[in-house]
Amino acid sequence: MDRRLKPSLVVVGNGMAGMRTVDELLALAPGQYDITVFGAEPRVNYNRIMLSPVLAGEKAFEDIVLHTREWYAQQGIVLHAGDPVVAIDRWRRVVRAESGLEVAYDRLLLATGSSPFIVPVPGAQLLGVVGFRDLDDVEAMLAAARAGGRAVVIGGGLLGLEAANGLKRRGMDVTVVHLTDSLLNQQLDPDAALLLRAELEGRGLRILLSSQTEAILGEERVEGVRFTDGSECAADLVVMAAGVRPNVGLARAAGLHVERAIVVDDTLQTYDPRIYAVGECVQHRKHTFGLVAPIWDQARVCAAHLAGFGHRRYVQQATATKLKVTGIDLYSAGDIVGGEGSEDLVLRDRRAGVYKRLVLAGNRVTGAVLYGDVSDGPWYFDLIQRRADVSGFRDRLLFGPALCEAQAA
Ligand SMILES: Cc1cc2nc3c(=O)[nH]c(=O)nc-3n(C[C@H](O)[C@H](O)[C@H](O)COP(=O)(O)OP(=O)(O)OC[C@H]3O[C@@H](n4cnc5c(N)ncnc54)[C@H](O)[C@@H]3O)c2cc1C
Repeated sequence: MDRRLKPSLVVVGNGMAGMRTVDELLALAPGQYDITVFGAEPRVNYNRIMLSPVLAGEKAFEDIVLHTREWYAQQGIVLHAGDPVVAIDRWRRVVRAESGLEVAYDRLLLATGSSPFIVPVPGAQLLGVVGFRDLDDVEAMLAAARAGGRAVVIGGGLLGLEAANGLKRRGMDVTVVHLTDSLLNQQLDPDAALLLRAELEGRGLRILLSSQTEAILGEERVEGVRFTDGSECAADLVVMAAGVRPNVGLARAAGLHVERAIVVDDTLQTYDPRIYAVGECVQHRKHTFGLVAPIWDQARVCAAHLAGFGHRRYVQQATATKLKVTGIDLYSAGDIVGGEGSEDLVLRDRRAGVYKRLVLAGNRVTGAVLYGDVSDGPWYFDLIQRRADVSGFRDRLLFGPALCEAQAA
């Protein structure tokens, strides 16, 4: 039977954003399209966030699969896993994959995500230098961990600390190298970062702050890392967790408008009305994205437009993050830097290991950093998102909803 009786939707990227959009589309308009998905990775779609627990040995890959092969088949979706799209011919409306396969589209969804930024220092191409983005990276790290030895993680952000924790739990001797003088400097203020550092050091991680990598040492394989102050550190594995770069090469080569990432409007449409883009490969109103919460919103909006219900608009919202290291409770939401005229409310209980800081602008909470006790995190996040007026319980705000709402009732 001719598959082309329905319009054809081709999805490039079998990751979190692309498949979430497909899920939303199937819920809104089942059967509207013949769907073909191309994935560069040779496997089904999985929950990338959970690679950290897989690395740490808390979950197996099977536990984090989101869509099985049977699911694709049941939905009538053709999956080409392990066959990346290498070209888009916008005039013929055809994509071409590495295998030479060509598929025509009426609508094209780009969801190519990001790649780890490999710090461009001598030795960065040596064996034993890996990123932390997909299952192959995790398998490379696990193989190194089985051989024992020393790991250096470049980058003390969320990803770097989760990698370091996982490798430590797998028995490696781990050093985290961070450029600034404070860990997680995008999410935490220096006070909370100090608590975190003490906790991580207590677990046996070595932390080097204000350290810049100058070269990775070794002949064929990694043997060590040299820093700009001339000091060196031995290593059998180097994990680059120093940020990501959106995968935009395909879009750029097709002549789509690309700045830092693929530029989309409020409907997630690119400059070509037949082509949409979602996830970490997009730039919306100057912003790029690195967390799933905004990507879920994008998926919902994009699916509505693909379904022909053109009523939704993507609006950027505040985001919240947690560190996925078992036993460390840390929550950061909204704008934790604050601006002119903003104020801080701070609670410190050193003995209990609890630190809370709320950033207020006028009568509204705009940011929250919680360490040690994060149970009220979602409540603060809700206040931030609703832009709620907290003047009625400002003096009790740090003590959580029970006290604040009791008084308000
Ligand atoms: C270890 C780890 C932990 C994380 N933890 C969190 C967390 O706790 N909370 C949070 O909010 N976010 C977290 N993130 C970030 C989150 O996973 C990403 O924001 C999300 O996966 C982005 O979705 P995406 O679809 O844009 O990219 P991806 O999920 O990376 O999917 C893109 C897919 O496209 C494929 N692709 C690229 N080019 C092509 C091509 N030419 N043809 C075909 N396929 C192609 C890629 O191989 C990839 O499979 C974490 C990320 C990692 C790596």
